[in-house]
This record gives sequence, C-alpha cells and structure tokens, in this order.
Amino acid sequence: MHEHVPSSTAHSHDDHSSLGRRDLLRSAVVLGIGTAGATIAAPAGAAPAAAASAGATPAGAAPPVPARAADQPPSLAPDPEAPADAPPGALAGVEVAVPTIASCPTWGAAAARGTIDTVSTNPNKILIHHTASANVTDYSQAAGYQIARDIQQWHFANGWVDTGQHLTVSRGGYVMEGRHGSLSRLQSGSGTVVGAHAPGQNSQAIGIENQGTYTSATPPAQLWSRLVELCAYICDQYGIAPTQIYGHRDYTATACPGDVLYSMLPQLRSEVAAALAGSSWSVIVDNTSAGFAAGGSWLTSSFSAERYGASYRYATPAEVSDLATFSVTIPSNGSYRVEAWFPGIDGYNTSTPFIVYTGTGSSTIRVDQSTGGGAWLSLGTYAMTAGTRTVVAVSRWTQGTAYVIADAIRITRLCFRVRRTGHPSDLYV
Ligand SMILES: [Zn+2]
Repeated sequence: MHEHVPSSTAHSHDDHSSLGRRDLLRSAVVLGIGTAGATIAAPAGAAPAAAASAGATPAGAAPPVPARAADQPPSLAPDPEAPADAPPGALAGVEVAVPTIASCPTWGAAAARGTIDTVSTNPNKILIHHTASANVTDYSQAAGYQIARDIQQWHFANGWVDTGQHLTVSRGGYVMEGRHGSLSRLQSGSGTVVGAHAPGQNSQAIGIENQGTYTSATPPAQLWSRLVELCAYICDQYGIAPTQIYGHRDYTATACPGDVLYSMLPQLRSEVAAALAGSSWSVIVDNTSAGFAAGGSWLTSSFSAERYGASYRYATPAEVSDLATFSVTIPSNGSYRVEAWFPGIDGYNTSTPFIVYTGTGSSTIRVDQSTGGGAWLSLGTYAMTAGTRTVVAVSRWTQGTAYVIADAIRITRLCFRVRRTGHPSDLYV
C-alpha cells in the first residue's frame, strides 16, 4: 500500500442513499455533424496514396529513403495543455456511456466510522492509483467486492473514517463506489466527498483505486476498458478535461500507480478524449486542397510512399517568413485537436516549426520529421474561435539544411458536455 493521509475532521453528511436514476437517464443532445465547405479533401481516416513504384523518379529532388521499420511509432511532439473547458454556448453535447457502479451497500461496505466531509465545488482532476495488492486471477465480481471490503478495513486501520478513494475498479472490470457518498455526488455532477487518497488533493481530485500492482504488470483488459469508461463519465459529469487525469505520483512521493500503469496515462487521456468526442466534426486539408497555399520555394514531391494523397511539399530551412499554410473554416467556438501527416524520412528536418492559430493566438510546435511519418501526429488540443483562416502553418525558420515538409493536416472538434457552474440543472452548453 502507498501512504495516504486522512481527510480533515470537519462535519459533513453521508448521503449515499439518494441515488437518483433520473440523472443517469437524462437525454443527451446529439451533436450534428458539420461540414467545412471547400477545404474538405478526404474523409477522416482516409488512407494515404499507395506506395510509389520502386523505380519511380520524383518530380522534385528529395533525400533518399532509408529502410524504416513498418511499425515505428510517431515521434512525440510537445502536447500543449488543453483548455480547461469549452467556452459556454459553444458546443452541443454528445452521449457518454454511463458505467455500472456498485454502491457501498451493494459490495458490502461497513458503515463509515465518522463524518465524511463534502465540498460543493466540483473536482478539477482525476488521480489514478493502484491498491498495491495481489494481482489476483479471480476476475469475478465477488472477488472484486471482497478486495474492496479488505481495502476498507486497511483504511480503517489507518485511522480513517472510511475507504480513502472515491471509486475502485477490480481486475475483472467491476466498478465500485469507494468512500460513502462519492457515487451520489458523481451522479448529481455537483460537488464531492472529501477523500483520503492524496495529500493536498483530497477535496479537488477524484481518486480511483485500481485493484492490483502495476509496477511491472499491465492492467487486465477488463480493468482498462472500464477505467476508460469511468474516467469519461467522471469528466463528463464534472466538466473535467481529459488532460486533467494524473497519477498519484504526480502529487505525492510514491510509486503509485506503478510504472506500467503510470506510463499508460497518456493512452488513458487519449482514449477518454475519444470516448467523449462522439460524433465530432473533422476536416482534412491536403497540400493539393483549396485551403493550402505556399510560395514558390515550396517544391512538390511524391517521393515518399508515406505521403498523404498524391504529393507533399518541401522546402529548405531559411530565416524567412515563407509559410506553407492550411486554411480551415472552424465551425464554432470550441475545443479542437490538431494533427499533422507527413512522410518521416531520415534526412528531413528534426525540428520543423508547425504553427497553430487558434483565432486568439498562436502556438509553435517543433516536430521531428526524420521519423514517425505516414500517420496522424497530434500537435495538441486547442480552444479555437469560429471562422475561416489559416489554422496551421509550416515554417522554414529552423536550423540545419534538412527539408521541412508540409503535407496534410486534420482538425477534429472535441465535444464535451460542460456544466455551467452554479446551474446544476443546466447540463448542456
Ligand atoms: Zn495512490
């Protein structure tokens, strides 16, 4: 077990008995799929051009293509912090799956041994833990419930009034309420009980304990899929961005939630974001699309089979303002993921500047184009304002002599149900 500190001892109430189903059953507003007009070049997920024939000679000069592992992962560009929430009025909601969560009485929790604090403010993050208990191979509901009862006893032994965390996921994928009152607060989407799972974060972070030890073992698939579903539900209920999912060790000196599970947190954030995205709007702009523009120094090549579409553009680095630009009609104010596709070749630039324009500012992301091509690489998630403009540009202003590449970009709107603070019944904005 990792160490936890108990919550404060101020008075509160235990309200776990009020489990209204109406909150679970409320209707969702399904977002319409937008269109982007002339800038749409291909449907999302369209495959790039077929591999060039071995003897093909490119129209423009390009560096030679070395052998490359087929499954080489994309290089990692910096992932700017996403905006906290979409601005009010920006987005309709999409339905998010509601997981089955066993209440404290269902899994046989003992009564709390004291008062449990509540806070009316919504939590602003999720902290992921492991219980550091055995990696049992009994994936049954009964086994999960038994471990939850054991955990509660361990936490009583710490002198705590109840289970420390808000929620628990068993290795078999059963989701349980932790501290009494956590479930009703989550279902109402308003406030939470103060936990005892991470010092300094107990009143602002939802703590999820994953049964097992993930220092070297990988969580079972059943646990993982339920954890994704649970986190998406929590984000949806409280208006928490999926980027605000962290490991216990991010806030406390602890090995929790284990090296393996901790290393999976980027994947967790990504899968939660995808679960929340629903029927989002998406557009691709290729270098042959109407929305693309570049000056005469940007030459055209079809050399690499990793290109998107028929060709891509390349240019030599220079300290000049000579951008290759991708213009998009952003349909509404909201949160958008920006991705780039390019051929990744040893000999292309290792620090190509991509500039993302949000409508209120810009961010520059350096991308290593010497590897990891032939796939969509995320440049981050941004709060954007509606309108037609250059949304992504590739700059020549970088070091060295290796080519910078402009090929295709994809913009995807992320949809969240965002609760208006102070208006608990106003579910959608
Ligand atoms: Zn922990």
